[in-house]
Amino acid sequence: MITQPSTAATPSSASPAGAAAEPALSLPSTLTPSKIAKFISCPLAFRYSYLERLPEPASPQQVRGTLLHRALQLLYSDGPADARTRDRAEDALDAAWSELASTDEVSELGMDERGEAAFVREASGLLERYFALEDPSSVHPVGLELDLRARLGDIELRGIIDRLDRLEDGSLVVIDYKTGRAPRADYSRASLGGVHFYAFLCEQVLGRRPREVRLIYLRDQVVIVESPTDQSMRGLRQRALGVWHAIERACRTGDFRPNPSPLCKSCAFQALCPVAPNRADGTRPMAVASPTVRERTAPLPAPPSGDARLLGAAHGEPLVLAGETASPSD
Ligand code: SF4
Repeated sequence: MITQPSTAATPSSASPAGAAAEPALSLPSTLTPSKIAKFISCPLAFRYSYLERLPEPASPQQVRGTLLHRALQLLYSDGPADARTRDRAEDALDAAWSELASTDEVSELGMDERGEAAFVREASGLLERYFALEDPSSVHPVGLELDLRARLGDIELRGIIDRLDRLEDGSLVVIDYKTGRAPRADYSRASLGGVHFYAFLCEQVLGRRPREVRLIYLRDQVVIVESPTDQSMRGLRQRALGVWHAIERACRTGDFRPNPSPLCKSCAFQALCPVAPNRADGTRPMAVASPTVRERTAPLPAPPSGDARLLGAAHGEPLVLAGETASPSD
């Protein structure tokens, strides 16, 4: 259920340029691929979600994603590689559903017994498709659901890597499962921002740049492969710094301007948004003067070497990849 936000987030205070100044908001503690994507797509939705922390009802797509990610994590968690069979994947899916079925996330969907059975069946169909994309018995994962953090200047970057594989030659591959639609070919570049984010984290925290990052789209049976380069790592730094500076500015000024787009249709904050096309109170949406967010395009200086650090180690939690020692020889 959506509740009325605090005074600092009323629709009027989120209005376009010229509105009265608002109290400063606190910066988020970390920068993640999701936060970057949300701020770029709509600063106001970012504010509601990550700064005001207003509740967002779970969607079937989100819950399905959680279920599939957990099932695949369980499939790869233990046992020999040749035991990662289709039957075993179904067992993992059942176990994942047992964990998830009684959560608020699932109950919010309001499914009856038949609806739940159909939901799990559809997830099973996605697993079937997954097996057509990868042979799990040939995979050598060295990390699952890896929570990586690194510093970029004053920013703490954070990302969770679904799976990290090691190839025979010792190189690393980041795997990111996707349960939504694959991007159209002409949009695939834009969808790779998160990919480079993960590659950057991997390089900074583990000391090795992954050879590849693979986005595995289960539904469309598409795999997008990207090889990180010096240039893409520089681009990631610029993008992260540029978005962070824009967030800082917005927090300072309170100007989180809405950015209407087709994404409004699935936005959880339509009832609060002054420009939402389908406002709950039937009032006409306000006009928006201009787009608010412009990513910084001028090159920014790269941070000094060694700027990024392994936060886990700093907190006394050394990160050890499965099957490796704490100090990888390579
Ligand atoms: S309805 Fe659209 S413009 Fe309004 S907050 Fe949501 S995404 Fe932004």
